[in-house]
Amino acid sequence: MTTPFVRTAPSPTGYLHIGNARSLMFNWLFAKRHVGRFLLRYDDTDQARSKPEFADAIAEDLAWLGVVPDASVKQSERIALYDGAADKLRAAGRLYPCYESADELDRKRKRQLARGLPPVYDRTGLKLTAEERARLEAEGRKPHWRFLLDWEEVGWDDLVRGPSHVDCASLSDPVLVREDGTYPYTLPSVVDDLDMGITHVIRGEDHVTNTAVQIQIMQALGGALPAFGHHNLLTTASGEGLSKRLGHLSLRGLRESGIESLAVAALAVLTGSSEAVRPVSSLDELAGLVDLAHVSRAPAKFDEHELETLSARTLHQLDFATVEERLKDLGIPASEPFWLAVRGNLARLSDARDWWTIVEGPIETQVADPSFAAAAASLLPAEPFDHTTWKSWTQAVAAETGAKGKALFMPLRQALTGRDHGPELAALLPLIGREKALKRLAGEAA
Ligand code: GLU
Repeated sequence: MTTPFVRTAPSPTGYLHIGNARSLMFNWLFAKRHVGRFLLRYDDTDQARSKPEFADAIAEDLAWLGVVPDASVKQSERIALYDGAADKLRAAGRLYPCYESADELDRKRKRQLARGLPPVYDRTGLKLTAEERARLEAEGRKPHWRFLLDWEEVGWDDLVRGPSHVDCASLSDPVLVREDGTYPYTLPSVVDDLDMGITHVIRGEDHVTNTAVQIQIMQALGGALPAFGHHNLLTTASGEGLSKRLGHLSLRGLRESGIESLAVAALAVLTGSSEAVRPVSSLDELAGLVDLAHVSRAPAKFDEHELETLSARTLHQLDFATVEERLKDLGIPASEPFWLAVRGNLARLSDARDWWTIVEGPIETQVADPSFAAAAASLLPAEPFDHTTWKSWTQAVAAETGAKGKALFMPLRQALTGRDHGPELAALLPLIGREKALKRLAGEAA
């Protein structure tokens, strides 16, 4: 394979959600797996709806996911290229002016439907003579421009769906240039994919028809066709599409609620594939699991509640180096033994704060039976403590007091941590240390 160059092309008109993450992660992981490059393209030709704050948010969300683009471009800065391509298509007779207003088009569609015909544009614009055009323009009308489709079947070997085809005879000639001279998504996307040398266009299956149209435009402009792959879209458990308005599933919403980005990435791409949804410890590992040929064609039903569990399970196996900085940001200057002791008990990384306080103190603990606690304290070995200290100590306490099982362990756990549950005490005791352990057993805040 030639070095792949893929792109993700969000429109900065809202926040990215988990469905967008599916598409962008498929691209990024494909580049990673095949040692290729990844372009972030802002599809911001819709000036009215595109906002710089959404573009900034996209960059931030990508960084959170661990996705670092090799290059980034904005379509709003590349309009001259689209103008050039439109001129080329006009000169080739593939772009023709049309003058119908939105209302007129709507009426045409309704008449066609009423007569049982498909609502396909009737190419009135193509038949206009120079005089008719001049008359329409004298009325103050401005043209929008449609691409003249070849009424034939367009086929490609889809990276996900295998051999695919769309019959362009059933499609309306697409509008490539609006009345005000601005460009809807179609032409800029084609021009950029050709100009930037994109090798693989990987996107949602809502773009299958666009692909047939875009292949024809690419052929009309001349240039090497990329490969195309269309993945299934994430749906809710009941099969509905995800809408951008699902704010709590926006990447920033998930980040703010403390969900691990690796869990989001894994759920976004493993759902609806032949790989089981599972926690991964790095994007490299995920790249090894994701193969476009293994993405299912059925809808990818995704259960947002799975995110909580997957996030916790992801956290439980992260190594210290991966979280050290994030712990510092939470005000936890922890060491590796602390992390290894507590990670299995966290639902969110921020829960580590509670355990940090418990290890460092001071905390109030509970001593229900002071004489038992005093006996245990008198048997606490001398430092240094290690992983074996807990076992030898509790064996000695059992021998001395006769307590065993829950009656032995629960009062010690409550005295040492103030909690009924938590990480293994074999790991916590060395972190708490002898001095604090003795004070807590004596019922003092320490
Ligand atoms: N801006 C388009 C979208 O978000 C990009 C589609 C594509 O990948 O070509 O749907």
